[in-house]
Amino acid sequence: MVMLGAHMSISGGLHNAAEAAGKSDMDCLQIFTANPRAYPEVKNDPQSGRLLTKRNGRWQLNSIADSDAVAFSAAVARAQLRQTMSHASYLINLASPDDALWKKSIDAMTIELERAGQLQIPWVVVHPGSYTTSTAAAGIIRIAKAVDRINELRSARAANILLENTAGQGTNLGWSFQQIADIISHTSDSKRLGVCLDTCHAFAAGYAIDRTSGWRRMLGDIETTFGFEKLKALHLNDSKRECGSRVDRHEHIGLGQIGCDGFRRIVKSRKMGHLPMYLETPKAAINGEDGDARNLRVLRELAA
Ligand SMILES: [Zn+2]
Ligand SMILES: [Zn+2]
Repeated sequence: MVMLGAHMSISGGLHNAAEAAGKSDMDCLQIFTANPRAYPEVKNDPQSGRLLTKRNGRWQLNSIADSDAVAFSAAVARAQLRQTMSHASYLINLASPDDALWKKSIDAMTIELERAGQLQIPWVVVHPGSYTTSTAAAGIIRIAKAVDRINELRSARAANILLENTAGQGTNLGWSFQQIADIISHTSDSKRLGVCLDTCHAFAAGYAIDRTSGWRRMLGDIETTFGFEKLKALHLNDSKRECGSRVDRHEHIGLGQIGCDGFRRIVKSRKMGHLPMYLETPKAAINGEDGDARNLRVLRELAA
């Protein structure tokens, strides 16, 4: 049985995302737990050593109201969602050579893990980061150090981090699986880290998973770098742009350059078919059918 869902909007309340996922017959759900284009206001609590965030004008340990967290968990249970995941803010750059931005990113990522923990979401997926004015090697060390610092700041209930492979635009790290493996191996507690594989990003980074040879090469590279035991989730997106373009443009399943053959291999894969799979495809309707509904239907047909 494939586990399929999508990234859903939390507008009007976190619980709305879970309700909408249930109505669309999803098995799993990805959300932003807050506005992804803003940094949270944070300060250190000298007493607990933990980070506080501002909510309702007051510094608090919980950045989500308990009533909202309870409503979300209840909606997840009602919708019978088997897995949830949150996506971290796009502003976070754990590879930044700029100390102020790096610290801001560490604090923001810690709050991401705390918010997810409060919502009983086990994983927060994050793009590893961009080395900007430094080097790839320096960026990798910087990310590993950031992860170690986050693990010092976090509470016991906080979620864990999934590193997402990227398309490799500009100085983005994580387009190569070896870079992801290097980040993991440089952290002091690698057990807390996992990987989320985005199909569009892997294709844009050079894995021709539209054909058997490219698919096999990708499986082989996962095996010899971070390993399948680290792989915890998939982002299923087709790609508007060609293989190796290093450009990240998501397309409806089967209508991009990866195509239906590529996605059939993924949903039927013995190595990945059991993992939660989240769509981040356009929401726009195709021939009158809702975008998510159409893409879920295509994937279920391919898996059958
Ligand atoms: Zn993704
Ligand atoms: Zn993308």
